[in-house]
Amino acid sequence: MQTIESYDFKGKKALIRVDFNVPLNENFEITDDTRMTAAVPTIKKVIEAGGSPIIMSHFGRPKNGPEDKFSMKHLVAHLAELLGVDVKLAPDCVGAEVKALAEALKPGEVLLLENLRFHKEEEKGDEAFAGQLAELGDCWVNDAFGTAHRAHASTAVIAKFFPNDKLFGYLVNDEVSNLDKVVANPARPMTAIMGGAKVSTKITIIENMLDTVDNLIIGGGMIFTFVKAMGGNIGASLCEDDYLEMAKTIIAKAEAKGVNLVIAEDCVAADKFANDANTEVCLTKNIKDGWLGLDVGPKTIATFKEVIGNSKTVLWNGPAGVFEMDAFAAGTKAIGDAVVEATKNGAFTLVGGGDSVAAVNKFGIADQVSYISTAGGAMLETLEGKVLPGIAAVRG
Ligand code: AMP
Repeated sequence: MQTIESYDFKGKKALIRVDFNVPLNENFEITDDTRMTAAVPTIKKVIEAGGSPIIMSHFGRPKNGPEDKFSMKHLVAHLAELLGVDVKLAPDCVGAEVKALAEALKPGEVLLLENLRFHKEEEKGDEAFAGQLAELGDCWVNDAFGTAHRAHASTAVIAKFFPNDKLFGYLVNDEVSNLDKVVANPARPMTAIMGGAKVSTKITIIENMLDTVDNLIIGGGMIFTFVKAMGGNIGASLCEDDYLEMAKTIIAKAEAKGVNLVIAEDCVAADKFANDANTEVCLTKNIKDGWLGLDVGPKTIATFKEVIGNSKTVLWNGPAGVFEMDAFAAGTKAIGDAVVEATKNGAFTLVGGGDSVAAVNKFGIADQVSYISTAGGAMLETLEGKVLPGIAAVRG
């Protein structure tokens, strides 16, 4: 497989698929350029190696063809500033005029294609459209992890036109190699901490993780579906009754596979869903009628800390409680501290999923864990054990 480090970009036109789907305010100003800055190293590498980057991305959700508010024209000036070179904007992403612009590019010159999703063929994964895109370049670089779980024309289908000239950009390479440390070959003991509101959204990950992990920690609102399945009284805590059988199956599977399933034993229960609620610590299986478990309790925190502290690999997906309210943030904070401590002691720790990322940011520990994945759907599908089309296309 070609890599961005070893590939010879000299004199080549590199079609780079990025994710520039950034948020804009009402004046069409970029309010968060994280996704753009993330792709800069790959684009700069092509420039420095004597190639010409042809950058392509989707942007927003245009419905029927071109829409001014979703034009890449809003991004050109900022991209030029980030790269320190001029950026030409193509009037479209395919067609004769765009082809002429691509052909005229000299080494070091940058062309930004117009929004790929102005053509419905992009999301359909249309092969002819992918072929038209492919005509513009000599190689294809996939640097858009956020869309790697989609088999779109520019994210996967295009690969067949570059059998020997397809590669990952730095960003995708980073995501793939870090996620591999968790899903492919984790150092042991490996612990997954699953939290958040619902079992239903995490069930496939939990099932897949049972094949990989030594310890599976269950926190957050999903605790109570498990506790109810085991016959506990959970009061008015969050519960998905449709998933009680599934919870039982997971408990049985964990036992059969020798996985240490750690379900929160005690919790902070509240008489209402509010920061100023009356609270008490009780067992998760013994919550008063009308009360809700909103955070894990001290015994549970001690157990979580011990398990995390003994791990060589930790995956953290989802908060232990309603961490947005200070009264119920202690459990999530304690997990964060334990993950930081494990990292210091040499464990590989990966935090992924919107709310756990929000939690590490809230507690100011984002730079003290090994890796934070912000890729959303693509990351979740990787953890579910799925093969992502955009990754398979480069590897295959
Ligand atoms: P998710 O998007 O599924 O990861 O869920 C994240 C949300 O779960 C956060 O907003 C938390 O406030 C919420 N959450 C965590 N623990 C609980 C709980 N015990 N009861 C209700 N919501 C919870």
